[in-house]
Parts: sequence; C-alpha cells; structure tokens
Amino acid sequence: MRRVPGMGGNDTAGTMVTDEAAQAGHVDPLRPPLADGEVRYLAWLGAGAIDEPQEQVRLLGAWGMCQRHALGFLAVEASLNEGWMFRPAVVYDHVFDRAVRALAPRRLFERSRVAAYLLDAEPCPVCDPDTSHRAQVDSVPEEVVARGRDLAPLRRLALETRPQWEPWICGACAGNGSPLRCRLHLAAELRAPGGPALPEQRRLVALLSRHLRTYARSFGWANRGLDMPADRAALLGAVGWCAGWQSILGLVG
Ligand SMILES: [Zn+2]
Ligand SMILES: [Zn+2]
Repeated sequence: MRRVPGMGGNDTAGTMVTDEAAQAGHVDPLRPPLADGEVRYLAWLGAGAIDEPQEQVRLLGAWGMCQRHALGFLAVEASLNEGWMFRPAVVYDHVFDRAVRALAPRRLFERSRVAAYLLDAEPCPVCDPDTSHRAQVDSVPEEVVARGRDLAPLRRLALETRPQWEPWICGACAGNGSPLRCRLHLAAELRAPGGPALPEQRRLVALLSRHLRTYARSFGWANRGLDMPADRAALLGAVGWCAGWQSILGLVG
C-alpha cells in the first residue's frame, strides 16, 4: 500500500487484532492490519460517500479497490452492518458490467484488446483518497473505527460460502492447476503464447455478474430474501477476480 497523507494508523489497535486472529488460529490477511485512517475512510465511503458520482467513476476505473482495501471494505461493511453488504454488492454489480464489456468477443486483435481493457484506469480510491472531505472522514467516531476493523463477520461469510466461491479461484493466485484467471493475471498472460483461453474466462465473468446482480437486487423490498449462497459468495468472487485472491485465501487460511 502506498503511504498517503491522512492514512496514519494506530499500531496498538492493529497489534491487538493480529493477536486475536492468531489466537483463533487464523492468518491475518491484512498485513499490516488496517490503520485507523484506512478504516475511517472505508467507513465514510460505506456510509454513503461511495454513491457520489465522482466516487463511482473512480471505483469503476480502479476495478473497485486494490486487494488490501477491497478486502478491508468488505470487512468494514460486514462488521458495521452485521453482514448487510448492500453497498459492496452495488459497487461490484457495476464493476462487473464493465468486466462483461471488457471480455466481449472482438473480431480483430481480441486478446491484446481485452488485455488493454483489463488494466486500471484509476488508482485505488483509498490509496489515493479525496482529501477535500478530510473533515468528514476525521469525524467518523472512534467506536466505529474499533468495530470496523473486526475481520470476524467477513471471515464467517467467507467460510459459509466457501463451497460456492472456491471453484472461481484464479489458478495463478492459488498456484493450482485451474485454468481460470483473476483480472490481473488474465491481463498479464493474455498476450503470452499459450495464455488462457478466453471463452472460459468469459463464462466465469458472466456467472459472477449474474450472481452479483441477483445479490444487489435482493436488498430491494420486492426481492428481499431471494439471495442464495452463490449470490453472497459472488461478492468474494468479485474481489478475488478484480484484485487477486491472496487476501481472501489468507482470510480463511
Ligand atoms: Zn488501495
Ligand atoms: Zn490471479
């Protein structure tokens, strides 16, 4: 993670969480743990700032957030909202509209054009925060920061939905034989001879997009309660596909 102004942390609180995770037998997937400034910024985004048009543009351009902050965003939302993941679902539903378009078949120079579309057009909005809202971000209460960095609710969601998201893992991130690739490995390998075949990557992205759409709609009154485990798992699949799978694997490791 890039060091940025206003993102300084409280090392004492971070160490405490690491110790709790270690006692529970889990590897901490966020090393170092989220600093106070990062939790505060993520909580501020999740409380509504993320709906602003300029934030939407940044999130789409960055394919969500970097791996650290994407997992951090899910963790903060899961802990502050008791697993009610409305805003991450909407964000990644929009991001996957972009993913489906990026992987659309093309007649000429398909592989190099898809690879180009998969690159970041914007930096992660938390690594590169909008400092014009500093006062609002700083006003996020201490108790929200303390609660927000609890990884346990997200870890529960990841463990409950593991059978659904495990088949979507990138073979290069996991070091297994799966032909599927996350966005980053796909962009890197598409130009290489013998690189990944596009049709199966396309099927994965279309599947994740469908599940994310169902999940995002399940927060509406008419569709309440209609989400299935695979729809909730798609949120982890979306973060893994966009930013790489290592932190999610570390979360359940
Ligand atoms: Zn970031
Ligand atoms: Zn990967």
